[in-house]
Amino acid sequence: MTNMADALFEEASSADEGHARRFAARVRPLALFFNAFFAILFALLHVWPLVLAWCGALGFHLWVAWQVNTPGGDIRRVLQWSWVLIFIQSMLAVLMLGPAADFQNYLLATLPAGFQSLQRPMLQKLLQASVIVGFFLACDIWLDTDIGLYPQPAWVLQAFAHVNAVGTCAMLAGLAHAQALTVQEAQDSLSRAATTDVLTGLLNRRAISNFAASEAARCLRKGEKLSFVICDVDHFKRVNDTWGHAAGDKVLKRVAAVLKSVLRGYDGIARWGGEEFLIVLPDVAPATAAAIADRVRQTVLGTRIEYEDRLIEVSMTFGVTGREGDEPWQTSVARADEALYRGKQGGRNRVELA
Ligand code: GH3
Ligand code: MG
Ligand code: MG
Repeated sequence: MTNMADALFEEASSADEGHARRFAARVRPLALFFNAFFAILFALLHVWPLVLAWCGALGFHLWVAWQVNTPGGDIRRVLQWSWVLIFIQSMLAVLMLGPAADFQNYLLATLPAGFQSLQRPMLQKLLQASVIVGFFLACDIWLDTDIGLYPQPAWVLQAFAHVNAVGTCAMLAGLAHAQALTVQEAQDSLSRAATTDVLTGLLNRRAISNFAASEAARCLRKGEKLSFVICDVDHFKRVNDTWGHAAGDKVLKRVAAVLKSVLRGYDGIARWGGEEFLIVLPDVAPATAAAIADRVRQTVLGTRIEYEDRLIEVSMTFGVTGREGDEPWQTSVARADEALYRGKQGGRNRVELA
């Protein structure tokens, strides 16, 4: 049980790490652009301490871009340092140019990011927020008196104030967009996990039930046929007993691969139970479904599955039926199941049409 919990935690935190990586990769171009842009502006104004700081930051962001593509390494820690860097840069710019250039605005843009991490204690976040807001207020209060160590003409400060207003908005918009994409990705991977069978990668029982229900409604509306195939690996228990459970798993994966390769993209293919699969064939008449099932049967029969230098051969039995009238899809599946049972009784490795 502990192992299971550990494995789940490991999986979740490595997914988190993946999201953090993609988030970092997404915001990197914006960070590189901003730092290069200001480094050039400061050089034109001969404010050398800022040129140095911004080139250093550029180096840091290039290093992060490289880290993002390097497995291992705690990317989340690196992301936290990005905010510290922006904080230092803003303070330095205020010190050199004075608050009228509005570089303190970037501090406010770091506020949402500071609160994003659910791992950090709230007290720490509030402390960080107080420092940021305190510094921002101080800049505002001293706005008229403090002119900075490298005094600039009024029009330059005005121009910086405009650029920084746009820059702060761009930074907030960019971060929000990167965050939204990351959340979307997390949702996609969760919904994939909720609808997929882990071993075979086919749909799971819940997903195929939804598919069958919606196809049943659609086919009825369009006047199309709808067929169901249930198939089951013959004497699968023997495979497990003879070769072991891992061999059995390999057989299931190969059978799933055969199903995927023989069937069409818009057919629903699911692992219905242990070694039992349910196939939903929209716009296919029962006789055609039986022919398709037979093609799958022959392909499975011809598939030689290697396991530890030995070859495993399996056969499958199929129960096929078409939906009758507007009966619930579960009724059709039950009829296909009865046909499968008859196929088993009749000697297996066959297709039985109901
Ligand atoms: P039949 O031809 O009548 O279908 O016989 P069978 O042996 O295939 O059927 P039975 O229901 O007796 O055995 C099915 C076996 O499938 C039993 C179960 O342990 C095994 N099984 C179910 N799920 C899995 C799985 O995920 N992996 C492996 N390796 N075995 C599984
Ligand atoms: Mg079986
Ligand atoms: Mg079975």
